[in-house]
Amino acid sequence: MSAPPLLQVRNLQVQFVTRRAVLTAIDDVSLEIAPGEVLGVVGESGAGKSITGAAIIGLLEPPGRISGGEILLDGRRIDNLPASQMRQVRGREIGAIFQDPLTSLNPLYTVGRQITETIQTHLNLTPAQARTRAIDLLKSTGIPGAQARLDHYPHQFSGGMRQRVVIALALAAEPRLIIADEPTTALDVSIQAQIIALIRRLCREHGTAVMLVTHDMGVIAETADRVAVMYAGRLVEVGPVAQVIHHPQHPYTHGLMGSIPRVGAQRDRLEQIDGAMPRLNAIPTGCAFHPRCPRATSLCERRRPELMPAQQAQAACWLHDANSASHFPAHDAATGGQV
Ligand code: SF4
Repeated sequence: MSAPPLLQVRNLQVQFVTRRAVLTAIDDVSLEIAPGEVLGVVGESGAGKSITGAAIIGLLEPPGRISGGEILLDGRRIDNLPASQMRQVRGREIGAIFQDPLTSLNPLYTVGRQITETIQTHLNLTPAQARTRAIDLLKSTGIPGAQARLDHYPHQFSGGMRQRVVIALALAAEPRLIIADEPTTALDVSIQAQIIALIRRLCREHGTAVMLVTHDMGVIAETADRVAVMYAGRLVEVGPVAQVIHHPQHPYTHGLMGSIPRVGAQRDRLEQIDGAMPRLNAIPTGCAFHPRCPRATSLCERRRPELMPAQQAQAACWLHDANSASHFPAHDAATGGQV
């Protein structure tokens, strides 16, 4: 990353505290996103990627709470802000795009009203200026007849067009960061590619940073600059998208990359690795992936690996630890080549 990071997540921990137990859903996650950069966060269902996004945007559902670490936006801590201040940050500085556009849109109001209200809440514009800006936003997201469409209600749009409206709404207050959680999963395959291209283009044009949460490596391959791979609430690999896709350094990433589907193809579970993501109350000791890992040793069961350099990426895997190399045969778990 060349520019200073816009978003810094440091040692984030999220716990769910219930009467029966304290469950750690996010465990010591650190990541950064630069202005204009798209960071893909990928993993199977239950890996913790959506919870990480929700923690950043201040929308963790109780009993979930941030129990450790800090989140900084442009150098300012936002994880400890009062709810009223966080509401200001959300919308003005961080926009959100969720899987189902209807969760972001009020069915009772025209899209024009919703976009102009957001604009006027956060930007110092007159009603006429806000309406002009709303039309421009709809145009920039590729909605035909933007001026007339402003007075339509959400149900009058198709699914793909509704998601474009949500993107316009997310961009309405010129946020510096967008959290997009499975933004294309609910859409038809042909529309998915258009929405991905749109998010990427708008971010480039506006210099907006994006955290793109998805289980779909095809979406990541086409959109992200860097990729963060999560497993059992932890980061297991982070690196440039081409490196992670073509030369994965963590055995879990290797399984995830087994067959990258085209954009739109659904794949909810790994095809190459037996077993399933552990439940929160049964996360294995040491490397959480060890029960599923073909390269696991007794060291992996005992000690948790931190992220360590692995080619141009970082991987949390003992295979890349020079000091423990003697525990492993000298070939790459992920690629079958030399480590
Ligand atoms: Fe597999 Fe061990 Fe690496 Fe974990 S640390 S991914 S169990 S080799």
